[in-house]
Amino acid sequence: MKIDKKAASILDMAQAGRAPTKEECVFLLQFPETSLEAALLRAVSDSITRRRFNNEGVVLAQIGIEIARCPGGCKFCSFGEGHTAFEPSIMNNEDILRSADNFTASGDLYALFLMTMHTFDFERLVHIVRIVRERIPRETEIVVNIGDFDRAQAQDLKATGVNGAYHVCRLREGIDTALDPEKRKATMRIIKDSRIGLLLLLRTDWTGAQPAGTGRPDLHRARIRMCPARRNEACVFSVGPLVTTWPNFRAPTRASDGRGSSGIPGLPRDEMHRGP
Ligand code: SF4
Repeated sequence: MKIDKKAASILDMAQAGRAPTKEECVFLLQFPETSLEAALLRAVSDSITRRRFNNEGVVLAQIGIEIARCPGGCKFCSFGEGHTAFEPSIMNNEDILRSADNFTASGDLYALFLMTMHTFDFERLVHIVRIVRERIPRETEIVVNIGDFDRAQAQDLKATGVNGAYHVCRLREGIDTALDPEKRKATMRIIKDSRIGLLLLLRTDWTGAQPAGTGRPDLHRARIRMCPARRNEACVFSVGPLVTTWPNFRAPTRASDGRGSSGIPGLPRDEMHRGP
């Protein structure tokens, strides 16, 4: 098997505990996503992640409460306006609660995500959060995966029972998406200031060649900034794809028993909880 020597050397050193430099990250991202080098990069990332987190994880589930042709237009997302094949659809309250029951029945679910498109009906979302919060176990957190929102809305969400928000400023935001990177960052600041959890995912599956000079420095900065999991700031899951299902999915059993812990070794569950 022929692997680029420099790529192999960088990945060898990463496995030995030496983080790649910015230039090395740029170098690694030049390989096409279908290349052996890109596959090896993903495999090494996965291996380091599993070692770092003792091969433990938390079980998350997501309900897409409504879908539409999303004006976010993200080229990597199947809901993006302009290329989606989905017809608009809104789950009714009964189906949402039935899905919430299915997800939480095993008692293993750490957090239930409620997802909308970039634009959404805020009043309805608050109502859904309220009825889901009343229905599911107290220890299961509610996380919203929605478009940008303001401070007042963040407070409303928190008061209704939202524990966290998944929000990111992605690589090539504003280039591969129709969204304003500054608005994405502003929402992340609002989430942080509101003291609800900000969930970021360092996705190890989004690697592959990118046009020269775009996006890559962001990746390095993200790696530097997001690696420490800090209380009340951000908890970082360095994972493969987030499991997203709609509408019915039976939550899998945990790979290992994370009861009483955050699922992240060395980080007690209390340190992840950011309830009202
Ligand atoms: S904003 Fe979200 S839902 Fe909309 S196209 Fe982008 S990734 Fe998909």
